Amino acid sequence: MYATKVAEKVYMLDTFALGTPKAVAAFVVKAPKVTLFDCGYASTYRNVLSGLSEAGISPEDVRYIVPTHVHLDHAGAAGTLAKLMPNAEVVAHERSIQHLADPTRLIESATMVFGPETMRLYGLPEPVPRERMSGVGEEFSLDMGGEWSATLVHTPGHAPHQISAWLPATKMLVTADAVGIAYPGFSTLIPTTPPPSFRPDELVSSVLTLSQMNPRELLVPHFGVKPEPGWVFDSTVEKVRAWVRKVESMRAHGASLDEAAAEMEKEVATTEGRELPLYAKVSVRASVMGIMHYLSKA
Ligand SMILES: [Zn+2]
Repeated sequence: MYATKVAEKVYMLDTFALGTPKAVAAFVVKAPKVTLFDCGYASTYRNVLSGLSEAGISPEDVRYIVPTHVHLDHAGAAGTLAKLMPNAEVVAHERSIQHLADPTRLIESATMVFGPETMRLYGLPEPVPRERMSGVGEEFSLDMGGEWSATLVHTPGHAPHQISAWLPATKMLVTADAVGIAYPGFSTLIPTTPPPSFRPDELVSSVLTLSQMNPRELLVPHFGVKPEPGWVFDSTVEKVRAWVRKVESMRAHGASLDEAAAEMEKEVATTEGRELPLYAKVSVRASVMGIMHYLSKA
């Protein structure tokens, strides 16, 4: 099963990233103008289509595709889906438009972070035609028809061009990666702080912006519906600060990326009492890499 109904007309789609359930979600609002928030990796676009079909939505029905940011687990499939969804306009932050139109630099940078083997599993993003895209700035109200709207809010820190989406009709918030990775069944939250543009202060201030919206539930890409927004917000800030401190200290003692990543992976695995799924391992390493990259420039 790919689609889960999480509220009236709101569905969560499991994209089965890297073949794993409950790692990367997309969300869809079946409003008069059907809107898809995030797309998953290029390699999993078929799973998004299957999820939409389970929700009774055909590709032609989709009117807006909103990639929250250009990272491959969110926008990787945007170009392919746009091709298959002839009536959809792609709405994204104005600073992400160039990368969606020409993913060359994005692919180069992701290959440096994840390596060519993992990139093969992610799949390569196809370009989105410029004439199919609209850029948004600090805040934008997207009219989805009827009672439905989404307030798209700029939430930098994880990425400079990230947006989150507030759904007033359900008091739900599509967080994007403004909050950390909160796996179902995990008691601890993993910061998502990848290179090249992680900025801790901006991330903390984006979390504050979102918490002031007072959402009832969070729709978190990694992963699921979170009925305790306060815990997710607080843990995100706490863990980001703790990881930056810890990586800074390891770095000061000469630790390599691999050593620091292994240490943080061990810390999470020990807390949870289990081995981490592949997606989590890849994420921990990327987060440590992003922190090291930030520290090297700070
Ligand atoms: Zn992500």
